[in-house]
Amino acid sequence: MLNNYQNNSSTLPTKIVCIGRNYVAHIKELGNQVAEQMVIFLKPSSAINNELLSVHGDEALHFETEICFKVKAGNLAEVGVGLDLTKRELQTQLKSKGLPWERAKAFDGSALFSEFVAIEQADIAKLEVSLRINGRLQQQGNVELMLYKPDVILDQINEFMTLNDGDIIMTGTPAGVGKISPGDTFSAQIHLADHLLVEQSWVAK
Ligand code: ZN
Repeated sequence: MLNNYQNNSSTLPTKIVCIGRNYVAHIKELGNQVAEQMVIFLKPSSAINNELLSVHGDEALHFETEICFKVKAGNLAEVGVGLDLTKRELQTQLKSKGLPWERAKAFDGSALFSEFVAIEQADIAKLEVSLRINGRLQQQGNVELMLYKPDVILDQINEFMTLNDGDIIMTGTPAGVGKISPGDTFSAQIHLADHLLVEQSWVAK
């Protein structure tokens, strides 16, 4: 099924840059160590989907809800909310062998995004993300809790990779990740202090 991006290929990002292990409480829930360096991986634009899948291939999918930025002229120009879908079991196997994560993180349908709205640079520090599943609060986090703040993320990416207009940065997930069940209603929000900036709902297939 075509999604908004595929319907208009001119808006496809050249890459989606994802940050891992950016919230201490999430690092602990997966039994990971705080990394010595910022953890970065990529998703291809073919990962973008409008449908929330609960299964891909023969593996159940897990959700991670993340504050996302769209880059314009080298700046974090717009903010949205995204889901980084993960084959957690496979990722755990790959990690234990020291292998790349793409099979667990870059499959078709592994990246979902809301609309993106303009954000003032001074307001980025006040962003908060939340996810409700069937109305119950499941994940909540904010820029304050990030180990690597958005400006640092941008600087570190720029040290070795050119960001093109339209590229998306996923800034990592707070605690509360889990498995997606078919029929569940996901409602993700970005708040700027007390003001609701972005809201997106999906029903899991
Ligand atoms: Zn993630």
